[in-house]
Amino acid sequence: MQYVSSSVTVSSGPGADPPEVAGSGDRLLAMMRRRSSEDPITHIERVPARAGITTDWPGWVPAELRAALGRRGVEAPWKHQAEAAELAFSGRHVVIATGTASGKSMAYLLPALATLLADPRATVLYLAPTKALAADQARALAELELEGIRPACYDGDTPRAEREWIRRHSRFVLTNPDMLHHGILPGNAQWTAFLRRLSFVIVDECHTYRGVFGSHVAHVLRRLRRQCERYARPARVPSQPSGPQRRTGPVFVLASATSGDPAATAERLTGHPVAAVTEDTSPRGGVTFALWEPPLLPPDTDNPADLTPTRRSALRETADLLADSITAGVRTLAFVRSRRGAEVVATSARRSLDEAVPGLGRRVAAYRGGYLPEERRALERALLDGELLGLASTNALELGVDLVGLDAVLICGYPGTRASLWQQAGRAGRSGQEALAVLVARDDPLDTYLVHHPEALFGRPVEATVLDPGNPYVLGPQLACAAAEAPLTPADLELFGPGAREAVDELVAAGALRARPTGWYWRDPRRPEVDLRGQDGAPVCVVEAATGRLLGTVDGGSAHFLVHPGAVHLHQGVSYVVDSLDLADGCALVHPAEPDWSTHARDVTSLTVLSVRSYTDAGPVGMFLGEVDVTSQVVSYQRRRIATGEVIDTRPLDLPARELRTMAVWFTVSPQALAAAGVEPAEVPGALHAAEHAAIGLLPLVATCDRWDIGGLSTAVHPDTGAPTVFVYDGHPGGAGFAERAYAVAAQWLRATREAISACGCEAGCPSCVQSPKCGNGNNPLAKNDAVRVLDVVLANLPPEPSPQS
Ligand SMILES: [Zn+2]
Ligand SMILES: [Zn+2]
Repeated sequence: MQYVSSSVTVSSGPGADPPEVAGSGDRLLAMMRRRSSEDPITHIERVPARAGITTDWPGWVPAELRAALGRRGVEAPWKHQAEAAELAFSGRHVVIATGTASGKSMAYLLPALATLLADPRATVLYLAPTKALAADQARALAELELEGIRPACYDGDTPRAEREWIRRHSRFVLTNPDMLHHGILPGNAQWTAFLRRLSFVIVDECHTYRGVFGSHVAHVLRRLRRQCERYARPARVPSQPSGPQRRTGPVFVLASATSGDPAATAERLTGHPVAAVTEDTSPRGGVTFALWEPPLLPPDTDNPADLTPTRRSALRETADLLADSITAGVRTLAFVRSRRGAEVVATSARRSLDEAVPGLGRRVAAYRGGYLPEERRALERALLDGELLGLASTNALELGVDLVGLDAVLICGYPGTRASLWQQAGRAGRSGQEALAVLVARDDPLDTYLVHHPEALFGRPVEATVLDPGNPYVLGPQLACAAAEAPLTPADLELFGPGAREAVDELVAAGALRARPTGWYWRDPRRPEVDLRGQDGAPVCVVEAATGRLLGTVDGGSAHFLVHPGAVHLHQGVSYVVDSLDLADGCALVHPAEPDWSTHARDVTSLTVLSVRSYTDAGPVGMFLGEVDVTSQVVSYQRRRIATGEVIDTRPLDLPARELRTMAVWFTVSPQALAAAGVEPAEVPGALHAAEHAAIGLLPLVATCDRWDIGGLSTAVHPDTGAPTVFVYDGHPGGAGFAERAYAVAAQWLRATREAISACGCEAGCPSCVQSPKCGNGNNPLAKNDAVRVLDVVLANLPPEPSPQS
């Protein structure tokens, strides 16, 4: 098979608009853009090739390690690797936050392995978010063939028979936070020797520890620190004066994707002050990065009442682009957010390829998580051999699977964070060749904003990895775990943060802990049951009634919305209708059916302000951060014709109300200021509602969350504020840090929101600006242009950096 050729010099000089330069990326782009009459490309970014900067090995790296790395083809470290390694070796906690494939592992392996080789008793603990990544790292370590280190994975897959050997003999244990939480820390007595000598803790891919999960992991790391301190022997004479001196605990080395403020995030995660290394000095190939907005569809002449303009779906657009590049012989990977989407893209690309050249369709496949390792390897091999030319994948590839060197990457919908975007785009590019990456925008406010504001993608990152270890719903259970591992002392509480004393008192009042003069003791003979990832109650099982087959699970928090009686539920491309939802048993019974309607749940939400933690008084505008109670009840659902979107009927539902105590950010605007800005009183509810939807849609720009992690409420007068108010709240009990982050960068966040609405070409609001797929009120009322006026009033009064008072 002939690949589109390479060796391109890209110029983007004047007159290159549209660029007709001879790169493979450009040629492919030119072919792709020919399909539509209006130009779907909103921006082309040339990410130039970069030569790497190497430096000398640090003096403390032993010859044996240099030789082992040399055998693996590493001649000298990149500058950023050496810089981070030096900091860690000197005893500083450090986070290295650089791009995909920039060799972050060298930054932690150098100090860790040098220490293990110099001190035959020292140990290292490595944490990865997935078992697959830990296994890859273990393989790479084993290949170095260093004497006496005995690297070993210790996770749910490790046979019982091997576990004791690992605890006794391995000096480099690779695991994940769940195993640390459920296995190693509760069984700390069996790990005494390992923990006593622990010199480094490596936290790889630490940007994945965000939200509620990240908040839990932060406390798991504090529990680890506590056990290390318990077992640490009184300081001995240091055996190597130049090495890490005896401290009260291990040095943390974290590796992160590029993000807004890696040092602050690492500090929240570990509880230690952390130095950051962020300059990437590794070489990289050039990438042509195109931002692509699918064209508007011609108006629906059958349904003139519906004037909402809609765009061609990102899935269909991606499938066509995939077919195009395969026709051109270009090896292409398409990233799609959902499994079902990946199947749709693969199937539809296959169909159009077979129409063009019978048999060509065979060279496209879908790839998702859940495949067996052999199946994955077979697919990867087929793609690298060229037997397969195209793959549509979920982000299952994102972590730890080694598949690089493709010619083109299509990204169907913004993957939610810049880290993921670059990780996906980083799959493109064989050495010395120009690669192509295309981001295909979905019809939502964030994607639309991004394809029209390339600086938000290619400039300095603003989004920060958000977590909140102070969340009482996380802190309480984690303190219970800590107490079950060893009685808590007042000194321990400091480690767990300012809310710890209050949380302990609550555990005592609830009878879970007993206060004694020597500390707080866990009373139950069994251990506390705490799930790091579960957050909103138990998941609901979706079961096929006729066969009893378990189809999958739905997150407890969204079950009322997704699997209420009568709901049409899609599972891996197959359509089911829900017969009943048993909340007590956590089970929804369904039968396969393909009605020609879809269902949309409606809810009623109310919100009470409990306390204000921080606020900015800005004349007619107020900006607040505080604790709220949110009550919501799914009360009905609409059935809509799939073909036309026409509402067939609205049916009532009998589901209980649910309570959520969480953190919220909110702003108020005085009615006088709104009137002065030209917002008619009758339009205030629609204006606030539209602003709320867009603000929720744009929050992921500044915080690593999903729009489904957050909720909102707007009202022309709220009893607790006495003014027109827009609330945006964390969707998880106790909050996960999203509202807090939104408050901290409120002006930046709301300015982007205003831009997203005002730049949208639609008349009265569409899914790209102010409509929301999860609106409990069916996107009614919405006043798009008045929403811009509301935000103008807010932005005119709000200081650019809010100065919080308390
Ligand atoms: Zn619009
Ligand atoms: Zn709404």
